[in-house]
Amino acid sequence: MSTTKIEKKITGFSIDSDTGNTNTTVTSTEQQPAQEPQTSAIEHMHEKVDRPEMLIGATYKIKTPLSDHALYITINDIVLNPDTDHEQRRPFEIFINSKNLEHYQWVVALTRVISAVFRKGGDVTFLVEELKAVFDPQGGYFKSGGRFMPSLVAEIGDAIELHMKSIGLIQTEELSDIQKQVLAEKLEKYNEQNQLESSHSGGYPPSAQLCLKCHTKAVIVMDGCKTCLSCGDSKCG
Ligand SMILES: [Zn+2]
Repeated sequence: MSTTKIEKKITGFSIDSDTGNTNTTVTSTEQQPAQEPQTSAIEHMHEKVDRPEMLIGATYKIKTPLSDHALYITINDIVLNPDTDHEQRRPFEIFINSKNLEHYQWVVALTRVISAVFRKGGDVTFLVEELKAVFDPQGGYFKSGGRFMPSLVAEIGDAIELHMKSIGLIQTEELSDIQKQVLAEKLEKYNEQNQLESSHSGGYPPSAQLCLKCHTKAVIVMDGCKTCLSCGDSKCG
């Protein structure tokens, strides 16, 4: 009796009635990938993940010149695979509260959509850039510190970014101490040259221009170079 080593996945077979032999018909032509390592034990975020009874989260207070009332953004997180190497904290739901009912309708709609995206799983950090890119046709406003906020939606995106940074979902691009020191020295020199008081709100010269990279009014022109004193972005000539 001859033996045939089957190296491909068996996807079908038929019995040869004449001889009574089991005749294996291999129909699969594709090489099967090696069996995946055991990943089924790791829980990933998807729609079917049940909401635990208790979630941990944070609330961000937002005060804008658009309204007398502050906006409170609450983001609750779920911890997947707790106490394992694969422990991951992910945003699970978002709520926005305000006494100001002017924006009630679309704010509720937005929070529901964002929460649904959170629960879908996958990379949810794209939400930040999408929301922060929304410009209010009536014009944005400057926050304390000279940072430009193009809309209320962008402000919500900003809070989500802050939260994602705090739970480690977005890596922060912090300036090094040396970079900070260089920028502080530049500011000091600029203030000296222009006989400006260094103590005014935000810390940047009032004449500073808006930085297109970090959206902060912190770009000064010195020695023929434009330098942002907030993020360090620099352009010469
Ligand atoms: Zn900048």
